Amino acid sequence: MNEPDHLIPTYARQPLAFSHGEGVWLTDTAGNRYLDALAGIAVSALGHAHPAMVQALQDQAAGILHTSNLYRIPHQEALADRLCDLAGMEAVFFCNSGAEANEAAIKLARLHGHRQGIEEPRILVMEGAFHGRTLASLAATGNPKAQKGFGPMPAGFVRVPYGDADAVAAHADDPNVVAVLVEPIQGEGGIRVPPPGYLPALRRLCDQQGWLLMADEVQTGVGRTGNWFAYQHDAVQPDVVSLAKGLGGGVPIGATLVAGRATALFGPGSHGSTFGGNPLACRAALAVISTIEAEGLTANAAARGEQLATAFRDGLANGDGVITVRGRGLMLGIELDRPCAVLVERAREAGVLLNVTAERVVRLLPPLILTAAEADDLADRVTKLIRSFLAE
Ligand SMILES: *Cc1c(COP(=O)(O)O)cnc(C)c1O
Repeated sequence: MNEPDHLIPTYARQPLAFSHGEGVWLTDTAGNRYLDALAGIAVSALGHAHPAMVQALQDQAAGILHTSNLYRIPHQEALADRLCDLAGMEAVFFCNSGAEANEAAIKLARLHGHRQGIEEPRILVMEGAFHGRTLASLAATGNPKAQKGFGPMPAGFVRVPYGDADAVAAHADDPNVVAVLVEPIQGEGGIRVPPPGYLPALRRLCDQQGWLLMADEVQTGVGRTGNWFAYQHDAVQPDVVSLAKGLGGGVPIGATLVAGRATALFGPGSHGSTFGGNPLACRAALAVISTIEAEGLTANAAARGEQLATAFRDGLANGDGVITVRGRGLMLGIELDRPCAVLVERAREAGVLLNVTAERVVRLLPPLILTAAEADDLADRVTKLIRSFLAE
């Protein structure tokens, strides 16, 4: 394939493209088939060409694609009802991506501060965090390489180590802190799972201090970790939740959910989005949610995740070079003791699409519809690949 002539090269793209998919399988333009263990980075929750999605989108396209937030949008209202019910939240603002969902969260936190007379509100953010590429979400992101060249970064973020509630508590006497923004499991940061009790400790601190607890569930949300939302494993209720990725099953949509003190902050004119929550995107998300429910896919994500993690622990435990297998549900990382980006290409050659993040972590984010037989197949192929890589 020739290099593209007219694309700004912001991505180091792999030299292939796909023509179609079915379930967890993708077919490239040369006719090769791949087991998709990446799902477009945790997006294709129902895999590819799921009949419920196809039906919903065809039906919606034949009716109405877009109107405007100048009018009421029944599918948006229905989706907000479903999300609030599942998430234990009170209201939703819809946008189109994870970065935008976090931008809204950041604006909410600042409003929360200004309402109390705090002129320069600060948000506590984590080392290794990823929150997006817009300027404020980039400032919240804990990756100096991603920020390089784009300064000055918006102010108002204070970084602390991830997984360390004491490091957050150490800011309790800073009167300008208004919120904590945290991924329940860090995705881009290397599938980092915080120690037990971390989110509950953050919840208690936020309650004591009057801070907003803001959970970035863009990657972990909508069933991926085996619960609708990852914070539900800890029975914690955030004040703000950001969603995107899996929510639309491949149709772009983001959402910022609010509860309690965060609910009454935005009013008419304080935030907006032309496309946000349009009829097509909301119809897609409604189909994703009802299919996850109908097919029991949160439970499936939990079971397949256990199956994969066990297979990797058994198959790789004796091999020198594997540091740990971690994650929750179908969000799994295998950390090696050496950089392993080359595994992306080798896996592809072996018919598996996966990803390597934080240099040494093989990341698996397969569709939630993965069957037990497909999980066995995946575990088998990835175990062999890693074993032969480590044996070199
Ligand atoms: C991917 C991701 C984002 C950014 O989402 P975009 O849709 O690419 O803007 C934000 N937060 C987390 C945790 C993510 O994984």
